[in-house]
Amino acid sequence: MKILVTGGMGFIGSAVIRYALRQGHSIVNLDGLTYAANPKTLASLENNQYYEFIKADICDENAVKSVFSKYRPNAVMHLAAESHVDRSIEAPGAFIQTNVIGTYNMLHYARAYWDSLKGENRQNFRFHHVSTDEVFGDLSQDESAFCETTPYDPSSPYSASKAASDHLVRAWGRTYGLPVVLSNCSNNYGPFQFPEKLIPVVILKALYKEEIPVYGTGENIRDWLYVDDHADALLTVLQKGKLNETYNIGAENECTNLKIVEKVCVIMDELCQPSKKSHKKLITFVEDRPGHDVRYALNVNKIYDDLGWRACTQFDKGLEKTINWYLNNKDWWAPLIQKEEITNRRGLISTIL
Ligand code: NAD
Repeated sequence: MKILVTGGMGFIGSAVIRYALRQGHSIVNLDGLTYAANPKTLASLENNQYYEFIKADICDENAVKSVFSKYRPNAVMHLAAESHVDRSIEAPGAFIQTNVIGTYNMLHYARAYWDSLKGENRQNFRFHHVSTDEVFGDLSQDESAFCETTPYDPSSPYSASKAASDHLVRAWGRTYGLPVVLSNCSNNYGPFQFPEKLIPVVILKALYKEEIPVYGTGENIRDWLYVDDHADALLTVLQKGKLNETYNIGAENECTNLKIVEKVCVIMDELCQPSKKSHKKLITFVEDRPGHDVRYALNVNKIYDDLGWRACTQFDKGLEKTINWYLNNKDWWAPLIQKEEITNRRGLISTIL
């Protein structure tokens, strides 16, 4: 297949591209290169004849239209989004623009392009929308995990804008017959994640012996999935998923934020500081995020039963791989910190550079 991936210079999109190329697909990567993108992530693909990069905003009508007519993809995997909850609280406008208007724009031109297709190309075309478990709101400790039919109840501007985009995609499937498929995934971790998200922040704070900020009491629970397992699941959903269906993607791996931070500290103790004080001593509890969801957990029986997919990375192994990757790839993350000055609610990694 020739797959048009949006947001392919980001954390998950780049993993999807590497994975899809390994499977023998060709890729057109449309990405606006916001602060969250790092062109170094896919620098190794520069001379790959099966890979093309287009710098464009998904809200730019002419750009999106011309990408469809020039590259004539067999499928779209739509990942481009503003993705950081803290930023959505500080400045929600960009989230509405990209996640809602940008998704509308992608649907509008995908539909026009799909309308022009004939025969097998038309029948086999897919628009795969990549979304999050955060659209379901949150759970108390003893509630059952979200399933695909759980009503939406988003809490943050980020999750509300993603929920809106999911509704648009379903409407384009139902009203216009655009062949859509959706997936909602739990928290991802792994290499190449922008250093403002929980796990990279903890690794880098620990590395530079800065206080490691944990929101509230650290009891919030997330369901963690290794990014390459997500990429594998997304290609499975694209190829085997039924039209108009939604698939939850997760690894049934619930963990409190505090436990994750402690796990990272223990691995950092082993890797960086054989003796003396544990990195756990750096943990500092900070004022909670407003509207902070208590718990996310995904019921993933549908993707297990209908598509035969399962995550294969064991959490501790994935975490160790991720930590080693950050320790060995300072040239990837250091310029991002310098340029962006991560002044979000988790605090600047001030002494690094
Ligand atoms: P990311 O922030 O790392 O990357 C987003 C990419 O989209 C960047 O390369 C950025 O340049 C691009 N982009 C943003 N706005 C754009 C625009 N207007 N036009 C073109 N490109 C634009 O995000 P991620 O963590 O890789 O997430 C990818 C997708 O997966 C998102 O849709 C997100 O909602 C979803 N998701 C993420 C997680 C997670 O844990 N990270 C979990 C579930 C679902």
